[in-house]
Amino acid sequence: MSQEPQPLSPDEKERYLRQLAMADWSEEDQLKLKGLHITVMGIGGAASSIINNLLLLGVGRIEAIDQDTVELSNLNRQFIHNVDRIGMSKAESLKIYAQKLNPHVEVIAKEMRVDEGTIEKAVDPKTDLIIDTFDKWAFRSIVNRFAVGHRIPYLMAGVVSNCFYTALLHSPRTPCLNCLIGRFQSPSVLGTFQSATFGINILPIAAMGAFSVAELIKYLKTREVTNQFYFGSLYATKQDIRFFSLFLSKHFRKISEEQGIQWGPVWDQEGIIRLKLSRDPSCRVCGRIS
Ligand SMILES: [Zn+2]
Repeated sequence: MSQEPQPLSPDEKERYLRQLAMADWSEEDQLKLKGLHITVMGIGGAASSIINNLLLLGVGRIEAIDQDTVELSNLNRQFIHNVDRIGMSKAESLKIYAQKLNPHVEVIAKEMRVDEGTIEKAVDPKTDLIIDTFDKWAFRSIVNRFAVGHRIPYLMAGVVSNCFYTALLHSPRTPCLNCLIGRFQSPSVLGTFQSATFGINILPIAAMGAFSVAELIKYLKTREVTNQFYFGSLYATKQDIRFFSLFLSKHFRKISEEQGIQWGPVWDQEGIIRLKLSRDPSCRVCGRIS
């Protein structure tokens, strides 16, 4: 944890009363949560769900980064924004939302573009965890390199069609993103996605937010990452999951097949699968780190 938190105030004790009444949750756990500094990349749909959970649970500090402004077409799923804030930066909009939901959480929101040249300035290397909800694999790759280089736990999460996926990675104890998602550099793969608008259902966003933050809570309590990848689907109808499946590395396909899962352009199973992850020894990002 990056900071020693102040004890819980009477207001906080009252706010978190139901949470503190849980059999597996103590005041000490709440203080650990309060001591956390979490960085969230992107302030869109996936981030709405995750940040909302972090605010409600009572983490100490959230730092969030996004370069965009709020648009009407965001509002079917990006519920931390609203119609009054169309045209406002997503960073500013988040600050307003967070202040009203839980003023005990310090929120630092930055309107900036993250790329190779800005990441060192954008992200505090002392952060306890990076949650990457960017919607482009190339951007996520930059964040992953930063996380691996600074040994920061990295949670990747997203939604595609009616499905969600999430995994908490902490290289070198686990694979890094590049071990799992390796094909985003290929021009032929990227060409397929240049102009397409892919469908996103709002419902798996909530499930993704719950599974993702549950991984964070497990890590907070044990200091161990589960090294598991979750993929969940709400319906048994045919879902176009190319935005996810086309980018998977050979290594990830191999460990998936070993566990009975074949990835294709379409997914038509209802329910949640869990895959045990392993590192790709030839990974160009984490392969030489031990
Ligand atoms: Zn790797």
